[in-house]
Amino acid sequence: MSVDAPPTSQATPGDRTGRDWGMYIGGEWVEALDGRWTDVTSPSRRGTVLGRVPRADAPDVDRAVRAARAALPGWAALPATARQKALLAIADDLYAHAEELARLTAQDTGNALRTQARPESQTLAHLFRYFGGVATEVKGVVLPAGEGQLQYSVRQPVGVVGAILPWNSPLMIAGMKIPAALAAGNTMVVKAAEDAPLTILRLAELCAAHLPPGVLNVLTGFGEDCGAAITAHPGVDKVSFTGSTEVGRIVGGVAGQRLAPVSLELGGKSPSIVWPDSCDDATVEGVLTAMRFTRQGQSCTAGSRLFLHEDVYDEFLDRAVARLQQMVVGDPLDEATDMGALINQDQFDRVTGYVAEGRARDDVSVALDGSGQVPSGLDGFYLGPTVFSRADNSWRLAREEIFGPVMVVIPWRDDEEVLAMANDSHYGLAAFVWCNDLGRALTAAHRIESGWVQVNQGGGQMVGQSYGGVKESGIGREFSLEGMLESFTQIKQINVKVNPGTATQKRTATP
Ligand code: NAD
Repeated sequence: MSVDAPPTSQATPGDRTGRDWGMYIGGEWVEALDGRWTDVTSPSRRGTVLGRVPRADAPDVDRAVRAARAALPGWAALPATARQKALLAIADDLYAHAEELARLTAQDTGNALRTQARPESQTLAHLFRYFGGVATEVKGVVLPAGEGQLQYSVRQPVGVVGAILPWNSPLMIAGMKIPAALAAGNTMVVKAAEDAPLTILRLAELCAAHLPPGVLNVLTGFGEDCGAAITAHPGVDKVSFTGSTEVGRIVGGVAGQRLAPVSLELGGKSPSIVWPDSCDDATVEGVLTAMRFTRQGQSCTAGSRLFLHEDVYDEFLDRAVARLQQMVVGDPLDEATDMGALINQDQFDRVTGYVAEGRARDDVSVALDGSGQVPSGLDGFYLGPTVFSRADNSWRLAREEIFGPVMVVIPWRDDEEVLAMANDSHYGLAAFVWCNDLGRALTAAHRIESGWVQVNQGGGQMVGQSYGGVKESGIGREFSLEGMLESFTQIKQINVKVNPGTATQKRTATP
């Protein structure tokens, strides 16, 4: 049951509407074995179907795992330079198709083309180039074991990696996992998020031209059947998951039962702390970037708890609100748009539920009501930037990940007090410190409980940095050479007596 590959032309959005996309298993484009399909709907044009994708279930997962296992020995045995060549060739194709991927992901996710989708498709290409570049760095060590001994370690692939992706920045998350796992000699079964699978299928197609069949398999389906089957499959040697803390807990539990290693990149409620010496426009811009307003706040690293020092509270907030009021909410494909649409009705209802809760409180003031910024005539899941002022760190609005363009602002006076509030969270993914006094800033950076702290800047991750969370924001690191070695290789130790006929040196006791 083969179906056509996704179209390769730089088709306009209209050309793709109604199109059936296949999944990629064992080098073929296939339907689900039970023939079920799912509509992929547009976040920015309510009711518009962008295409249909197969709804994979356990038998499809099994088929993909078998394909990945069959391809593993050949791929793992290649010299690293051969894998490097393939990944660098893919990177070249990704750069060449970056605009097409950006437009497709803008449609798929609702993220604005100019502010989000283009930078994301570039980052994807950078990640393939980076991991292609470091593919030859998967090295072992030799121990100084003495004459006649060769004791060395090799780093081997973990095996078949199951990767489960979210919808909020699918290309970038795919870029954290796919080239890193492949560079280290693993083969993969990747599950795209049900809400934004199209660019992942197009990515699979671009990769396919450079990889042997079965090395990369890409499935589309729902979490409870396809995702759960990947996590539980005994042929999946490692699960690399990015998504919510709630689902991460389930994935970690299921994989843990069969003692399969997992990496979990989960949610966040990151603090952004402004000291009184930083009440300036550059910091306002940085704070709003850190909040990821231009991704509608749908980012795990969003600095969604803004702590403003009382001395500058009103002035900073006024400047921030004035800047946010200039943001253009609109069609993701429009070059003028700063903020696109939320992903779907469920997410829209969830986020607006938090907003309603905030509005209903007597003790909070609404510094900016985002609903007023949505132009009439747009029929998608749009919501403008929303800011709640003089919030308390103990409120649900300040504790839970809203995953929408909603920021809570909390006043503070004392460094100890604000660091205690920043750390009073079950999350620990990112943090942003805004302070011209670098001694004070770095003291805070060291004391904040999170995997990533930025000082006086709020942009995205740097390719090559080890990225990941602490506390309930995750386990493990990705995005770097170290992360690749930690997440996608395992060490084997080999001890050799070089001259077998001679007396053996005394060694340490065996356990
Ligand atoms: P989600 O947890 O609902 O889904 C993520 C993926 O898991 C999807 O592919 C889904 O189909 C799958 N899934 C769902 N149930 C499953 C199950 N029982 N077993 C296996 N797989 C299952 O998350 P989402 O709504 O797609 O994404 C938003 C969340 O992701 C937010 O919480 C965000 O913070 C987090 N996120 C984290 C990072 C990070 O790097 N830490 C990056 C992006 C998103």
